[in-house]
Amino acid sequence: MKPFHYERSSDVSSACAVAARPASKFVAGGTNLIDLMKLEIETPAQIIDINALPLGGIEETPEQGLRIGALVTNSALAADMNVRRKYPLLSQAILAGASGQLRNKATTGGNLLQRTRCPYFYDTTKPCNKRQPGSGCAALEGLNRMNAVLGVSDNCIAAHPSDMAVAMTALDARIETIAADGATRTIPIDGLYRAPGDTPNIETVLQPGELIKSVVLPPPPPGRQIYRKVRDRASYAFALVSVAAIVAHEKNHVQDARVAFGGISYKPWRSAQAESTLSGASLTRSSYDAAGTAALKNARGYGHNNFKIPLARRTLRAALAEVTGTI
Ligand code: SF4
Repeated sequence: MKPFHYERSSDVSSACAVAARPASKFVAGGTNLIDLMKLEIETPAQIIDINALPLGGIEETPEQGLRIGALVTNSALAADMNVRRKYPLLSQAILAGASGQLRNKATTGGNLLQRTRCPYFYDTTKPCNKRQPGSGCAALEGLNRMNAVLGVSDNCIAAHPSDMAVAMTALDARIETIAADGATRTIPIDGLYRAPGDTPNIETVLQPGELIKSVVLPPPPPGRQIYRKVRDRASYAFALVSVAAIVAHEKNHVQDARVAFGGISYKPWRSAQAESTLSGASLTRSSYDAAGTAALKNARGYGHNNFKIPLARRTLRAALAEVTGTI
């Protein structure tokens, strides 16, 4: 590990001011960053420990949603009674990720900003445009079964690894940030992540020194919620494919549906195509399959990950059947 300067901050504005300096990183749980520093993939000159900032609470908003502080741990968020009662898919998604020990340390803000688990990103002997811009992408012709099939470019086909963010995307979460100059802004979660294009090393729209303060969940939409994850092991494994679905239905027809996928793109992938196909559709296998076909219409496999395209369709079908009680 390369030497770095460590600083603990107890107020937001000074933390952001320090973090705006070149080669600075915030650290909270450190469950991803420290591993990356050990491998010298991340080599910050200074890290700002933000664990003492007052961002560890969960509170109801005036609109009957929730504001979740960036330092709320994954365990605390999954166990929160308001989350379990009003946003059960968020609790399900968090508990489907990582291990108990990691969830006790990992934070809400850090979970959103975790880096990809593409194996070549972690292998410093291999080319990787995300780790070293312009070096190439070893995954294109390599072992890419965990990589993305939608929204990516030939410069990088990395998939976003978060489960929590997929549920938050289906819930239309908003990210509240504060910049080094004190300016605040709210970013829809779907606008937080940048498509890889030809700069896959730049993953979000956040500016240097800009800190995620909280995540706001609007009141839950009508309907039942589900998070379904398909993975290689029953625990402590990233998603091959996951689906967050919220469906309101009356008698035999869908009134309203929200669908987001994990494991298939550089970001949690909200599918407007699936949602519009489901709107007004009957609660039948053919409707669910039509939604899956629409969602994956533009998907492209890269060899080892071709299986993700039919798997995503089948996972959506299973999630929809379960959430509507039409198994
Ligand atoms: Fe690197 Fe992205 Fe290619 Fe993986 S997919 S090797 S992260 S450039």
